[in-house]
Amino acid sequence: MTTTTAHPPELAGVRAIVTGGASGIGAAVVTAMLARGAQVVSLDRTTEGVPAGAGSEVADVTDDAAVRRAVDAAAAAMGGIDVVVNNAGIGAQGTVADNDDAEWLRVLDVNVLGVVRVTRAALGHLRASEHAAVVNMASIASWSGLPSRALYSASKGAVQALTLAMAADHVREGIRVTCVNPGTVDTPWVGRLLDAADDPAAERAALEARQPTGRLVSPEAVAHAVCYLASPLATATTGTALAVDGGMHELRVRPA
Ligand code: NAD
Repeated sequence: MTTTTAHPPELAGVRAIVTGGASGIGAAVVTAMLARGAQVVSLDRTTEGVPAGAGSEVADVTDDAAVRRAVDAAAAAMGGIDVVVNNAGIGAQGTVADNDDAEWLRVLDVNVLGVVRVTRAALGHLRASEHAAVVNMASIASWSGLPSRALYSASKGAVQALTLAMAADHVREGIRVTCVNPGTVDTPWVGRLLDAADDPAAERAALEARQPTGRLVSPEAVAHAVCYLASPLATATTGTALAVDGGMHELRVRPA
């Protein structure tokens, strides 16, 4: 005879902030968290595209005062913060020869300092939480040596190193810090890159052919990983980087 065990929703009672919740991976994370019983507030430059059911605070993660205001407003609306998902990020192409200092500082300001500002603003609330977790969005670029992605790789490598450092600093406070390293995810961002090609359909086919699985990673697959790491189910996991890349990193595939 088989018995079934009913589990409560994994994120029941969890109050989460998701940066970049208006598009792509962030929007998928918002939807997945709501479905698992969480309260969610998106922190993004825009409210347009934030899934229904979530709260929305408009702030640019490069603006420290705006971030603090948005985090405080989210905490007031939800009665606290248990989880921060630092997902907002921007891309950059080229070798070290291709980007000037201004471009380096612009991207690092969003991808690295954005994580610092939002986490710093939420830290007091996380310390007060019973199940505090920070999940950062790194990338396969953090550890794979992608060609023509010097600045982007450096920014995401910094996010992964920061994940480890923050995990060590806050482990005794009960705050877990992890990151997810997605491969090529089918989001508006990748859509924009494909649209810029001479033949977007051919470029998409070539991109899919370079994936070990033969297809791009879905935003939902990344969102499920974030939900697990954010949930009390992952109570013994901190400092970890979880690849959600269709095997690209572990199978040593180097996309051109
Ligand atoms: P996207 O462009 O579809 O969405 C990014 C969201 O972040 C947007 O809603 C945007 O408004 C917001 N955002 C950007 N800069 C911001 C800022 N300064 N302040 C506040 N909000 C800001 O991108 P996506 O593909 O969903 O990527 C999300 C994250 O996942 C990024 O950190 C990216 O580096 C990472 N990632 C993406 C892929 C991929 O293939 N798409 C792969 C690995 C990692």
